[in-house]
Amino acid sequence: MDFNKLIHAKNKNAIAVVGVPSDENSSYLKGTAEAPQKIIEAFHSGSTNLTVENGIDLSKDERIVELGNMNFTEDRNVIFQIEEQFDKILEYNFKIISLGGDHAVSYPLTKSTAKKYDKITILHFDAHPDLYDEFEGNKFSHACPFARVMEENLAVRMVSVGIRGMNAHQREQAKKFGVEINEMKDWKGSIDFKFDTPIYISLDMDVLDPGFAPGISHYEPGGLSPREVISIIHKINQPIIGADIVELNPSRDINNITAMTAAKFLKEIAGKMILK
Ligand code: MN
Ligand code: MN
Repeated sequence: MDFNKLIHAKNKNAIAVVGVPSDENSSYLKGTAEAPQKIIEAFHSGSTNLTVENGIDLSKDERIVELGNMNFTEDRNVIFQIEEQFDKILEYNFKIISLGGDHAVSYPLTKSTAKKYDKITILHFDAHPDLYDEFEGNKFSHACPFARVMEENLAVRMVSVGIRGMNAHQREQAKKFGVEINEMKDWKGSIDFKFDTPIYISLDMDVLDPGFAPGISHYEPGGLSPREVISIIHKINQPIIGADIVELNPSRDINNITAMTAAKFLKEIAGKMILK
């Protein structure tokens, strides 16, 4: 990760884009550690341009600062290393969009964000609630991040969208923590949220129907379309102060379609952050 870019950034009200190449807390398949590189390649692909739907041309905007990937050492749990590196970036007053990695990275990312901002709401896109108390003996599994987040009161509110196939344990956990679960079985084509605090977006690519996004580890048919996710992001009525895009697994992707979709989400979230 290139910290010099933070120090020398001309516009201090900028957005840092950072890769979190970690898949060690994935339960079923590895591969999401390769995602950050693929999303950045898709972001700069000559097959499209860098103009956001709201008209902002990101190629002409100095507010996007690409830091490359975080570096990890093997001697300590990656969870703590992610938090430390995120803390450092936030010291420079950047907003951050991080590119995962599996969903385990969202616990240290929100923990770091919550130190900086008084009250945050998490807007969580996912097929799964990710609220397991533990999964296969791992408290930091990618199936658990939001149990840790809610136990530590890192967010005043959490809203999950796209959920399907919730088991009894996860339903109990959602109730215990007061997580607002919007299940696909109740989906009516769109949804309007009214938020009262700044928003942290956590976007698991498997919120999409696997027909749109085959490059993921856990196929749960019956999901959202890219347009439905983008519409919800466009309608957010509060500042977005941080975001992660996780669970892209390039080893299962077809013609980079899922990487292109992740890059599209990166563009639209960055455009919305800039527009406020
Ligand atoms: Mn997830
Ligand atoms: Mn998921």
